[in-house]
Parts: sequence; structure tokens; C-alpha cells
Amino acid sequence: MLTFRGLQDEQRPWAVHNFPGREPGDPLLGAVEELGELCHAHLKRKQGIRGTPAELEVAAKDAVADIVIYLADYCTARGFDFQTLMEETWAKVKARDWKADPVTGGGGELSRRQEGESEPLPPRYIKGHASH
Ligand SMILES: [Mg+2]
Repeated sequence: MLTFRGLQDEQRPWAVHNFPGREPGDPLLGAVEELGELCHAHLKRKQGIRGTPAELEVAAKDAVADIVIYLADYCTARGFDFQTLMEETWAKVKARDWKADPVTGGGGELSRRQEGESEPLPPRYIKGHASH
């Protein structure tokens, strides 16, 4: 099974070989370009034009994977460990329950501050507060 670390480890020498001198902004632009391709495939599928549903599904799947590959390269260029940041961030995200707590998701600084503490929440974080 391919892990985020495995992807990054395999992708690193490939990127160095194929794109020597690339800068962190290059894979970032690549990821956004692929996001555009995913949007294209998604929109055209909805509109029923510029490809069969099967062709547009292939294009969408390819774009999703390319986005992740570019992000692995971005992490390499920035010195980030892709596996670690995915594990750490997913652990935080999956602990949130937006159904149970639509304001804070049940975790994080906002929740701790609401549970009894020193500093009041800014009005924009209080449920029912009308913000712009
Ligand atoms: Mg592509």
C-alpha cells in the first residue's frame, strides 16, 4: 500500500531528475492547475458536454491523484514530512463534530475558551451573532 511517506520518498528523486532547480512555487502552481482540471471535468460532467461521463470520470480521478502528487512535491520542496502532517492534521479534523457543535466543531481554542475561561469570545464566534 502506498503511504504519504512512500509517495514522497518515491516522488522526490523523480522530481529532482525531471525538474532540477524547481522552486516550491512550481509544484504549488501544478497543484492549482490540476485543481482547475478537476473543476473542468466536474463541470463538464454536470453540463453533459466535452466528453462522455466515463471520459470525464477518468479525467477527474487523474486530477485528484495529480493534486496529491504535486502536494507531495510541494512538501519536499518546503522540507515538510507529508506523512506526519497528514497524520497530525487528520487527527485534528476527524475529532471535530460539526453536527454536535456547529460553532467550534467541539475542539480547539474556541471550544476551550467557551468552556469557562478567562477571555470572552469575539462576537463573530458566538452562535447567532450576525456577521458580515
Ligand atoms: Mg493533469
